[in-house]
Order: sequence, then structure tokens, then C-alpha cells
Amino acid sequence: MTPQHEIRRRRTFAIISHPDAGKTTLTEKLLLYGGVIQLAGAVKAKRGRASAVSDWMEMERERGISITTSVLAFPYRGLQMNLLDTPGHADFSEDTYRTLHAVDGAVMLLDCAKGVEAQTKKLFRVCRQRAIPIFTFVNKMDRGGRDPFDLIGEVESVLGIGVFPVAWPVFRGGTFRGVYHRLKRRVYLFDAAHAGSSATSGAERPPVEVTGIDDPLVREELDEAGFDRLRHDAELLEAAGDGFDEERYLAGELSPMFFGSAINNFGLEAFLETFCELMPPPRARPSDQGPVDPAGAEFSGFVFKIQANMDRAHRDRVAFVRICSGQVTRGMKVHHVRSGRDLRLMSPTQFLAGERSVVEGGFAGDVVGIPDPGLFEIGDTLTGGSRFAFEPIPSFAPEHFSRLVMLDPLRRKQFARGVEQLAQEGTVQLYRPPAGRAGDLVLGALGQLQFEVVRYRLESEYGVEVRLEPTAYQLARWVTRADGAPLELDDLYGAVEGMVVLDIRDRVVVLFDREWALRTAERLHPELVFGETATGV
Ligand code: GDP
Repeated sequence: MTPQHEIRRRRTFAIISHPDAGKTTLTEKLLLYGGVIQLAGAVKAKRGRASAVSDWMEMERERGISITTSVLAFPYRGLQMNLLDTPGHADFSEDTYRTLHAVDGAVMLLDCAKGVEAQTKKLFRVCRQRAIPIFTFVNKMDRGGRDPFDLIGEVESVLGIGVFPVAWPVFRGGTFRGVYHRLKRRVYLFDAAHAGSSATSGAERPPVEVTGIDDPLVREELDEAGFDRLRHDAELLEAAGDGFDEERYLAGELSPMFFGSAINNFGLEAFLETFCELMPPPRARPSDQGPVDPAGAEFSGFVFKIQANMDRAHRDRVAFVRICSGQVTRGMKVHHVRSGRDLRLMSPTQFLAGERSVVEGGFAGDVVGIPDPGLFEIGDTLTGGSRFAFEPIPSFAPEHFSRLVMLDPLRRKQFARGVEQLAQEGTVQLYRPPAGRAGDLVLGALGQLQFEVVRYRLESEYGVEVRLEPTAYQLARWVTRADGAPLELDDLYGAVEGMVVLDIRDRVVVLFDREWALRTAERLHPELVFGETATGV
């Protein structure tokens, strides 16, 4: 297969959802349909096993959660799927957001009874900024939930994205019986007797081709009430207008929506088939020298995650690199643009359904793990020799804050080095008082777990004991001047009701202990911009 062919087969995506919507279940079904695993329940079992083998922290095993953003690479219908996991629950962290910078599309998974939930909203925002295509899968339809039109309305109004329902639910006896595929004019009917079966088929009967909803075949399968409802719904959908606008979809402005039940394999066939057809392969990626073509011969990629101690026996650090062009092969030389250094990739690793193996040939869209000699930062560009840099991955305003206190004054140096290093890696955000000012060291994170990771690593890797104390801070904003002129720190003191600090790149940040203090600062100082994200140095 030519490299072009390989790239066209790549589908690199993530599932964004609120905890409990069914992400693990859907992931597992993808692997089942892809033939990677044979039994439902294997994903969880596998996770347990993998963490026992390669757990990089006792914590991970103790708490039974996965701290890593894992990559599941598997073949499906002739395509090569790269599903990047976006941890939720307690292990939600800034990595979850960064991962969304490494994908070409996303599946937004909603619980039909709950609709758009808090975490979905946050993750959606990142996808929206990147203008990537977003599929919507409404799950748990077997349970009955809200009216489908109501859900469409909520997605459109809360998230501000258009919705095109592709697979519309049909009912018989008031229960979810199948979906009508509006683009393919097909009915997919489910066999309730097989609900909950672990097999990939059985629950779904083969789809029936119909000429439209008025086809007698449709009428046969539904009772009168169900048929009337479908016809009524279809009229409303048609009245709502436009056909499926692929351009808007590709720009992330229109989301194709599907209904189903992941655990029962209902609606998955209709969803997966269309997903494979519509989800685009890797596209050109913006850099400071213009877009980089995925089919270009020269290797390029960027670091979106750094993970320490994946293998405790080796105390290693691995940088997760999303390939944007060219190929990765063992032993090849790459250029680290920020430092200007060249390095040889002795053992780039690829990830296959939770396991690591030395890479055979990675293409644009793939993720490889590269041993980090202590050089990498989030967002760093690697090339075959060229000196361009991909668009930086922004820092995201933390939502949790903690004061960091060193317990052993004799280990001040190790403490300073450890904290600096962890912040550089992007494990946590570090805020310190500007030179000459007194103040505490404050850590900022998107998930509480990030603090525990810091404490654990400072102790195990740097031999430094620390205490994390609560603070009253609730919000952090990067401050710049609206006119682009340099910001004078002195102008901030006394002007805003918050703590003025610097982040690891010496960007100015103000920590607020309540929302109104931020709102007041914004109102009184229109000359300042209080940013929720920050890019650049
Ligand atoms: P995650 O937190 O998003 O990974 O969610 P899980 O996949 O672990 O699912 C959360 C719960 O919802 C579990 O108890 C699943 O068995 C259940 N679940 C997942 N999909 C469905 C579905 O289609 N219907 C119903 N009734 N329950 C489901």
C-alpha cells in the first residue's frame, strides 16, 4: 500500500461525553465490531490487566482508574481507527483537552435522558475551537428518554452547533424499535429478544432497503401508532429544511445525529457505517509556515502529552506524538524544533488496544510514543529537519487550586527543580509571585488527580515531601492588553481584586477567589483581556 493510501485509511478521533453516558460501552462495541476483542466486558478487564503490568504509579492500581490517555488503534472495515481516550470521572485532567488537539474528529455521546451535560459542554468547546467534524450519538434509547426533537433543540441552543438527524428512532408499542436512516433510506430494526447480547450481531437484523418512510415494508414493521409517529416526525424534519450539508459538517458547524443503545447494539450499525463514510482522514495541519500536507514526504508531528513512568522498571518518560506528515520508522533521525537538536528514534512505540509495541511504520494520523530525554514540552514540533512549528496547544484555565508547601527546607533545590520540571511537562500549572513579591506557590489543575500526581512524583522522583493546602482561589485568567502592548505588572496591582502571579512561561495570570471579582475587573478594565486559554510564550 502506498503512503497516500495508508493516510486515507486513517481515522483519528475521540469520544467526548459526560461520565456514565456510555463511553466505555461504546468503545468496547467498536472493538467488538472491529474484531479486536471477542467478548463484552473485555475492555474493563483489559484495563485492569494493563495497569497491573505497566502501571506507572501505585496510585493508578490502588484506585483502579487509568491516568493515561490511552490510544486504541484497530482496523475496521478496511480503515485504521485511532481512538484516543479522553479520561473523565476522577481522572479528568488537562490531558483530556490536549488530546482533542490531536484528533481529526469526535463523537459526542449523550445520554438520552440527560442530554448535554457539564463535561460534554467543556470538551465540545475545545472541538468547536478546532472546527473539527463532530458526530452525535444519543445513547440509552432502550430506556426511553427525552423527546428526540427536544434533544436536538438542546444541542443546538446550548452548544451552538446545527444538528442533522441521520438515523431517526422508530417505535413500536411505545418502545424503541429501530432507526430510519434518512440519507440511505433504510430501516434498521432491532430484535429485542437479543438485547444485551454480547455478540456484535443478533440484536440487529440486516437493514431493510426501503424507498422512503411510506414504503409498505416500514408500515409492516411498525404498529399504527409507531408508523404515525414516524410519519409525523419525518414531516417535521423535512419542514425543518435543508439536506445534509457536508461542507458545514466538515467545518464542525453541523453534527450528524444518531440514536441508539450501545449496550444492546441498537443503532450501532447505522452509526458506524455512516461514521466510516463521513469521518475524514487526516487533513493539512496549520503551522507557522502554512498548512502541512499529510501526504508530504518529510516527517512531522507534535507532542500532545507527556507521561512519566509508564514502565516503573525503567523510570521512563514518554512523549505522545501525533504524526502529521511523513512516516516514523525505527532508528530515524528527527529534529526537535524548539531546541534545535536532532535525536534518533531508537524505539518509537505504537499503541494497539492498550498494548505497546515497537512501531513498524506510522503515518499521518497515527500516534507514537517517543522516549523523552527530558527535552519535550506539550506542543513541541518534531520534523525530519525543517524548522517550522505547528500551532501551539493552548493552556486551559484550571478549575482547582492548591497551595504547594515544601516540608523539608534542606531539599529546596530538588524541590525547585522537580516543581519546575513537572510544570514544564504540563503535569500541572504552576503559579509563582513575580520577582521581588512575596507569595505562595500555587498549583492549578483541571482535575484533582493532577495534584496527587504531583505530590507522588515529587516524592518518588525528587525525594521531596510536600503538603498541598486548600486555597480560596476559584478562577485563573491570563491577562494581556487589548491593544497588544506589553502589560505593566504595576498597573495590575490594586486595580484588580485578585492575586497577580506568573505561570511557567512568565505569562501574567490573575487568580480570583470569586466570579464577581473577575466580572468586576472585566467591567472596570476594558483595556485588558482576561483569557480562559493562553498560547505562545
Ligand atoms: P462511561 O462512564 O461513559 O464510560 O459509561 P459506561 O460505558 O461505563 O456506562 C455507564 C452505565 O450505563 C453502565 O452501567 C452501562 O452498562 C450503562 N449503559 C451503557 N450503554 C447503555 C445503553 O445503551 N442502555 C442502557 N440502558 N444502559 C447503558
